[in-house]
Amino acid sequence: MSLPSLRDTIQAHGLDAKKSLGQHFLLDPGICARIAALGDDLTGRSVVEIGPGPGGLTRALLDTPASRVDVVEIDERAWPLLDELATYYPNRLHVVRQDALKLDAASLAPAPRQIIANLPYNVATPLLVGWLRQAAQWERLSLMFQLEVAERICAAPGSSAYGRLAVLSQWCASCSVALRIPPAAFSPPPKVHSAVAVIIPHAEQPAPQLFRAMEQVTAAAFGQRRKMLRSSLKSIGGERLLEQAEIEPTRRAETLSVAEFARLAELNLASR
Ligand code: SAM
Repeated sequence: MSLPSLRDTIQAHGLDAKKSLGQHFLLDPGICARIAALGDDLTGRSVVEIGPGPGGLTRALLDTPASRVDVVEIDERAWPLLDELATYYPNRLHVVRQDALKLDAASLAPAPRQIIANLPYNVATPLLVGWLRQAAQWERLSLMFQLEVAERICAAPGSSAYGRLAVLSQWCASCSVALRIPPAAFSPPPKVHSAVAVIIPHAEQPAPQLFRAMEQVTAAAFGQRRKMLRSSLKSIGGERLLEQAEIEPTRRAETLSVAEFARLAELNLASR
């Protein structure tokens, strides 16, 4: 029995895109294959996909040598369609009926594991920060975001896009924008351009308490990004931390390198 086309499957299941779930579907197999290829050589890898929807990207992931693909979908309307797809890939495609925000995605599949996903844009940032907290669990994350968010993840110090997301991401991983995708590639087309960021976690990862200390420093520093650091970091003992880190208290958050933020996070943790 051959696999029906993606369009026929969507039609047979009456799966129209729902705005409230951030649904913009990729129907072009060429684009899905290019995203799947960002996982590099997936031989022997587990792949987790968040938000498979009708399964266009899922099909491309199943065409790679990945040993298994776990898909996490919140929309119950898509579950029968995904279950049907799973019958064509016994023991390789696993459908997880859950809210990805409430799930420890790393517990789904054995390492080495990657995430490859066209994320729902309304929850993309909290999902990413959650995965960064446990970055050692992942070999690589290839994630489609709204272009502006992908640029914020990869932004350099001194740029207007540089902020908390850039510092947290680049502290834990090497980050690059690998693929830009125009609105016309989706059905229905979103109002914004999209891009896939490839995020490769560093071999050494911060301990959970240090990650929390960094979240606190970056939230304070960028919460008032126009202010000098001695003032924006006041609530966490700014003057003293800055002196110990040998950072001029008159500087603003966006001028600090990731390494300088790392020094502040370590001192913040030590001062508790
Ligand atoms: N991967 C599909 C594609 O590329 O055509 C669909 C991508 S669409 C942008 C986002 C998908 O995420 C939708 O299928 C939506 O139902 C699902 N979704 C939204 N919020 C979710 C959540 N909290 N947990 C899991 N899936 C979610």
